[in-house]
Amino acid sequence: MKILVTNDDGITHPGLLALVNAVKPLGEVTVLAPDRNWSASGHVKTLHRPLRVRPTQLPDGTPAHMSDGAPSDCIALALLGYFDHEFDLVVSGINPYANIGDDVTYSGTVTAAMEAAIGGLPGVAFSLDSPIGLNSQRDFSAATQICQRVTMRVAAGGLPRHTLLNVNIPYLPLEQIKGMQVTRLGLRVYRDELIRRTDPQHNPYYWIGGEAPTGQPDEGTEVGALQAGYVSITPLQMDMTAYNLLPELATWQW
Ligand code: MN
Repeated sequence: MKILVTNDDGITHPGLLALVNAVKPLGEVTVLAPDRNWSASGHVKTLHRPLRVRPTQLPDGTPAHMSDGAPSDCIALALLGYFDHEFDLVVSGINPYANIGDDVTYSGTVTAAMEAAIGGLPGVAFSLDSPIGLNSQRDFSAATQICQRVTMRVAAGGLPRHTLLNVNIPYLPLEQIKGMQVTRLGLRVYRDELIRRTDPQHNPYYWIGGEAPTGQPDEGTEVGALQAGYVSITPLQMDMTAYNLLPELATWQW
């Protein structure tokens, strides 16, 4: 099995190495990841500038490739033939923070898996619901075990076309994780605030700031599963049609 690995936090992020270690025993692993942090970059297709790819190494010496494109560009490069072989499966992560609810449209981690789904491959995005500020102290060991188990299962079962899995892992020691829950998307609650400042030339500039987002822990959602100590596995589809609105809209006078 040929596995393609990427992330959105950049080639040097320890979450990428953790995911590589998780899937290494399962097949032949190729790493193509962004050369910088693309978190919250959304689903990107770079068309108006060239893309560069350079060989590099992960911190443990594993050969890898890095690109100046977005995570989804990395997947597109690989699926369009950058390497001299095809792939069976794409995994993305491990993102250090959860990707829940509307996050999935912002997340470079998830949109890399979406790019795989568009390209006809099973894609799995992995995120760890760890607290902010752990930096190099963050422990990916339990998440690594979970990623391996989930990837093995997806490799065996496959996924229908144009679908992907969004996996969120609670930040707990392995023995305290209660199990896996298949979930729907929950409700992310953003607490964004517009921060206005003035530059030295007296021109205003802006930050999207505010408190970290929270979520509504409804049962059956990833937010609920994480809060209860479960890994959440959310199947996503690229067809974003609001089917339940079709009959109503069809009655409108257009
Ligand atoms: Mn990220």
